[in-house]
Amino acid sequence: MTARRHIVVAGASQAGCACAAALRGFGFDGEITLLGDESHRPYTRPPLSKGVLVGAEPDHSVFLPVLDDVSMLGGVAAVGLDRSKNVVELAGRESLHYDGLVIATGARARRLTHGGHSELTVRTLDDALDLRQRMDGAQEVVVAGGGFLGMEVASSAASLGKSVTVVDGVSPLAGRLGSLLSGMVLTAAAEHGVRVRVVPGGVTVGFSDGTPDRLLSTDGSLLAEGDIVVTAVGDVPNMEWLHGSGVDLDGGVVVDDECRVAPDIVGAGDVVSVRRADGHCVRSPHWSNALSQARTAAATLLGLKPDGGVAATTPPFFWTEAFGLKIRLAGHLPPVGEPTVIDGSIADRRVLLAWRASGQTHGFGTAAAVNYPMSAPKLAKIAQQVLAH
Ligand SMILES: Cc1cc2nc3c(=O)[nH]c(=O)nc-3n(C[C@H](O)[C@H](O)[C@H](O)COP(=O)(O)OP(=O)(O)OC[C@H]3O[C@@H](n4cnc5c(N)ncnc54)[C@H](O)[C@@H]3O)c2cc1C
Repeated sequence: MTARRHIVVAGASQAGCACAAALRGFGFDGEITLLGDESHRPYTRPPLSKGVLVGAEPDHSVFLPVLDDVSMLGGVAAVGLDRSKNVVELAGRESLHYDGLVIATGARARRLTHGGHSELTVRTLDDALDLRQRMDGAQEVVVAGGGFLGMEVASSAASLGKSVTVVDGVSPLAGRLGSLLSGMVLTAAAEHGVRVRVVPGGVTVGFSDGTPDRLLSTDGSLLAEGDIVVTAVGDVPNMEWLHGSGVDLDGGVVVDDECRVAPDIVGAGDVVSVRRADGHCVRSPHWSNALSQARTAAATLLGLKPDGGVAATTPPFFWTEAFGLKIRLAGHLPPVGEPTVIDGSIADRRVLLAWRASGQTHGFGTAAAVNYPMSAPKLAKIAQQVLAH
């Protein structure tokens, strides 16, 4: 076990809280400071585009537990890192000394406009509460971006009786879910009255009296208008505070497959980019990834052997819920080719599917459960059992 006495966890959300809990779980009995820039207590984000947005889940259900013996420093941003002094620099305060640091500052919503305008996005609890209120008074909702988040927001809006249009440059979800599953989502979306427009080329947001209410193509022609436009066009890792610190940044904070940044620094969650054996860095900004990386990061920081690391053999797990479809996936995305139906039926939209790995080297394919009860570990096992060609 390590001789570290004070571990600072920068970023107080899914990965940060899980890492603090894992440090204690592994027996670390020194001081832990959990540092977060939001004014709320730590909370989880997946319900924000689903139950919280439609008011089906109480707002307080999102809050995460923080252990009593972890010091919470909320509403304070890390603005710099001085590795020569082992300090995290804080906004408007003294700096915080560490002898072990966890970087878990996550990501923020990517925006289409810059300066002055306030786009509507769903990244924070405040975003979701604001959007819920605005949706109350809206009939026509336009969603820019047909990824997981955009389709979830569209689904929530449609379930509230709104007239919904989704605009994207490519066919929604095909690049992540493959043709079969994305087709299933698009069919269900159409049945819920949602219009999907595929418009190659960029889009911009137009505002009236400060409210985003139309989407324009880059040549200025009108693509869609509504009472509100919600933007769901990806995320940007929160790593500016590390500029100049010497920490390797490549589309995220670069970590190895044990979540190590440097001997006394680890990273976990949406902010990190894992360097693979082929040298490429890959970000996987998903909930279960944040949890597994947090555990691996805690073990690494304490000098324990992480259980397998984050890269090699465990298929990544992901889920989404939209238009009456609960889709849970383990393994490579997008799945390619024809799946094997293990149980259920595609026509009934209650099905367990597996795709063989094609040309992949990690020893797993893809397994998907659509409206089919199955735990994440069991789904991962199926993905592992699917042999490569
Ligand atoms: C609306 C929504 C729905 C989602 N639904 C799903 C889903 O269905 N399935 C799924 O697998 N994943 C889903 N995700 C993704 C999942 O929520 C994220 O992968 C997860 O939140 C990552 O956790 P994190 O702790 O790494 O980062 P974050 O959740 O981004 O937390 C980082 C925290 O650090 C804080 N911070 C940032 N900069 C600083 C700083 N300089 N100093 C101090 N604090 C800082 C941030 O304010 C934030 O509180 C969803 C995400 C969103 C936004």
